[in-house]
Amino acid sequence: MFSYRHAFHAGNHADVFKHVALVAILRHLTQKETALWVIDTHAGAGLYRLDGDHAGTSGEAGHGIFKLAETLGTHDTIDGQPLAPAIADYLEHVRAFNRKGEMRVYPGSPFLAQRLLRTETRDKLKLFELHPSDSKALAGHVAQLDAGRQVTMDRADGFEALKALLPPPSRRALVLMDPSYEIKSDYGKVVAALKDSLHRFATGTYAVWYPIIPRPEAHDLPRRLKTLANQAHKPWLNASLAIGQDDQPPTPGEVHRPGLLASGLFVINPPHTLKPALQEALPQLLHVLGRGRGKGQVLEAGG
Ligand code: SAM
Repeated sequence: MFSYRHAFHAGNHADVFKHVALVAILRHLTQKETALWVIDTHAGAGLYRLDGDHAGTSGEAGHGIFKLAETLGTHDTIDGQPLAPAIADYLEHVRAFNRKGEMRVYPGSPFLAQRLLRTETRDKLKLFELHPSDSKALAGHVAQLDAGRQVTMDRADGFEALKALLPPPSRRALVLMDPSYEIKSDYGKVVAALKDSLHRFATGTYAVWYPIIPRPEAHDLPRRLKTLANQAHKPWLNASLAIGQDDQPPTPGEVHRPGLLASGLFVINPPHTLKPALQEALPQLLHVLGRGRGKGQVLEAGG
């Protein structure tokens, strides 16, 4: 059950896309002077070494954060256009975990979120992670933050733990659901957890990451999420980024590993600023990270 370790995938194209959107969502939600809760149901280890064994073996960051950082170098343009503010904002946060000119550490969703939270409004970050090693690593990383009661973490099932937290006392929250979809039942659990959460707390912002892979459950998920949001009469936004096939022939000795080529993010009750932010950011991400056959982007909204 627990073979998925996010350390192999940290900083890949899916992380870049998801985290650009996460930072853009939080930028907006932290404008209002009322406490915000961020609930990360599938938190991962929080921080990852990009020069460590896991990331080095997979090489996935090479098609993600490394490519983005290298392409930009010291420039702040992509394809002759000024860098989209959402990408610039995201990069600034990632770079804050690294020495100037280096990219050795990648912050996962808990650490990106924590950087955006405010102490004066008593924002809170609630983290859940079930994997024995990753929850231990997360606990260690959270302890180093010295953030006191602002950040809490539990080794628990995020789908289940969510129920007790909604609605939050301030009635303002972002819930990030980012399962590994290692087990088929995760697809159904996402839909059930969202349905239950909307009953408990209809005005929360919910962001669900999903892989775009040839599996019936994965194919059906965005459609099921749209139906759910429409039935609840809630606005939604669906965005995806496909980097396409690597058309370069593998170098001698290199194992051909197609990996994940596309992913999406479905947001219920998105901030009104998210669509314009992604309208600027997605084409630039595609320009830098897109490779060959099958590359593309989708940005649609409804409700
Ligand atoms: N959200 C993280 C980020 O963006 O940096 C990445 C999370 S990773 C895709 C998914 C994580 O969920 C894995 O670390 C996995 O161990 C964990 N996990 C799997 N099932 C879980 C569950 N039911 N509750 C909490 N965590 C779970």
